[in-house]
Amino acid sequence: MTRAGTEHDVLILGSGAAGLTAALNLAPRFKVAVLAKGGLSEGATGWAQGGIAAVLEPGDTFESHVEDTMIAGAGLNNRATVEFVVEHAPAAIARLAELGVPFNIDTDGEGWHLTREGGHSHRRIVHVDDATGWAVQQALEKAAAAHPNITLVPDMVAIDLVTSRHGERYSGDGHVWGAYALNRKKGKVETFCARATILATGGAGRVYLFSTAPRGATGDGIAMAWRAGCRVSNMEFMQFHPTCLYNLEVKNFLITEAVRGEGGRLLIPETGHRFMPEFDERAELAPRDVVARAIDHEIKRLGLDFVHLDISHLDPDFVKGHFPNIYEKLLGLGIDMTREPIPVVPAQHYTCGGVVIDLDGRTDLPGLYAVGEVSQSGLHGANRLASNSLLECFVFGEAAARHIDAHWDMLPPPPPIRGWDESRVTDSDEEVVIKQNWTEIRRFMWNYVGIVRTTKRLERAQHRIRLLTEEIGDYYGHFRVTPDLVELRNLLQTAELIVRSALRRKESRGLHYTLDYPRTLARAQDTVLAP
Ligand SMILES: Cc1cc2nc3c(=O)[nH]c(=O)nc-3n(C[C@H](O)[C@H](O)[C@H](O)COP(=O)(O)OP(=O)(O)OC[C@H]3O[C@@H](n4cnc5c(N)ncnc54)[C@H](O)[C@@H]3O)c2cc1C
Repeated sequence: MTRAGTEHDVLILGSGAAGLTAALNLAPRFKVAVLAKGGLSEGATGWAQGGIAAVLEPGDTFESHVEDTMIAGAGLNNRATVEFVVEHAPAAIARLAELGVPFNIDTDGEGWHLTREGGHSHRRIVHVDDATGWAVQQALEKAAAAHPNITLVPDMVAIDLVTSRHGERYSGDGHVWGAYALNRKKGKVETFCARATILATGGAGRVYLFSTAPRGATGDGIAMAWRAGCRVSNMEFMQFHPTCLYNLEVKNFLITEAVRGEGGRLLIPETGHRFMPEFDERAELAPRDVVARAIDHEIKRLGLDFVHLDISHLDPDFVKGHFPNIYEKLLGLGIDMTREPIPVVPAQHYTCGGVVIDLDGRTDLPGLYAVGEVSQSGLHGANRLASNSLLECFVFGEAAARHIDAHWDMLPPPPPIRGWDESRVTDSDEEVVIKQNWTEIRRFMWNYVGIVRTTKRLERAQHRIRLLTEEIGDYYGHFRVTPDLVELRNLLQTAELIVRSALRRKESRGLHYTLDYPRTLARAQDTVLAP
């Protein structure tokens, strides 16, 4: 375990697919510390169900995977990045298999079993049943724990990056030398110094009231990088899953799209009116985005909290047989889906935007890299193609490690760094402020910056963000940091970046849909914000 004021060759913030891949590729030569803000397996990686995309089927081609990715991304993807990721995919899968990920084998025993997902024109998804992410996380963690050069540090909440401003002698070159992090168990801030730092902190889904992402997806890495001076891009592109259970306690239980596939209907609660045929001739079988937008439209138009997903008209044995896990889970919450409808809302699912990086995972600041969902590499464009996101973690985790290895001599050792200063803060006497503001942000982001946007709603959100920025800034300046305060500050910063990006885009493209600019412009351009 590392302790206060420790120094490693490389510091990695995040122990999901991206962070651990980078760590394993650096470990043969360097001493690496990997921080996680809670348990090591608590990121989104462990939750991924579907699988990982790669060209493995005879007859499939890299060009086809590239084209599918570009079509999903509504032309905003960077073709060079897409080609880079797609071409490295088969090798990335082979390395995972070597690490012991038990991918399902085809019935003929010849190769891996491949499934097909929406938007892919071939079977190209390798998977481990319907819990691929968990298998991957466990294999990576096991390998990392066994490596003598890797130190895994759970319960360590990174607060801010250490930059040249924090050196004992001020220098303004923006170099990143590690991070300050709060040790949850001790309640103390520790300094982790390193020649290179990799952000692998995942997405920002929890900025929305309903999200399928884990509790820790509060955009910490994006906010830290922004504060340190990195550009952030395409934050307006948030992917929503159409049907998440509406339950104020259980906010992230997905109701698989197969329920609609098997005949489930979307209804208005009071009247039982089936609304999807009015939006698309494929009704409930329309693509994800169309269904999510239609539900959002009805919720906003009628002032509802949720709509109903009803499959109770089918034979109860069929329903139980096809959806045993969902049936059991809902029954535990008092909903019998064989007899009554399920209340559902769309939920945030994936953060397409993030910290701007190049093909080596480098950010704008010397010594700082970013990989995985925290980054904006150019792969996803305006919408993510299913199962491309874990892949991005593996390919860029390796790329960043390769670049650090090849340029080690150009990364100077850290200068003496000032410790965290707590001399002017006291313990908070008003924890309620944090809870109140946390809920408020997630609510107005949900209501004003969700699936269907308008300039007026975005401006309302921006106004609230301005008020909260002052209040939370004041609070942060006076009280000792806690994990919740760190997350609240990052949540607000991320919300601000999303709203600002959404206001900048004067068109509808991919996941960004605004009633004020419904058309797609001829030229696709990234939204790039500079601090
Ligand atoms: C329900 C669900 C299903 C999905 N299904 C698929 C799928 O089938 N296929 C696919 O390709 N993608 C899928 N995705 C997306 C995919 O899981 C994620 O994009 C990917 O796992 C992100 O990996 P990551 O390493 O970037 O971040 P994560 O796995 O989220 O890890 C983030 C890490 O950063 C740490 N961290 C965060 N903040 C701090 C901080 N301040 N200090 C220290 N550590 C910090 C966390 O503790 C964690 O260890 C799914 C996502 C969800 C939510």
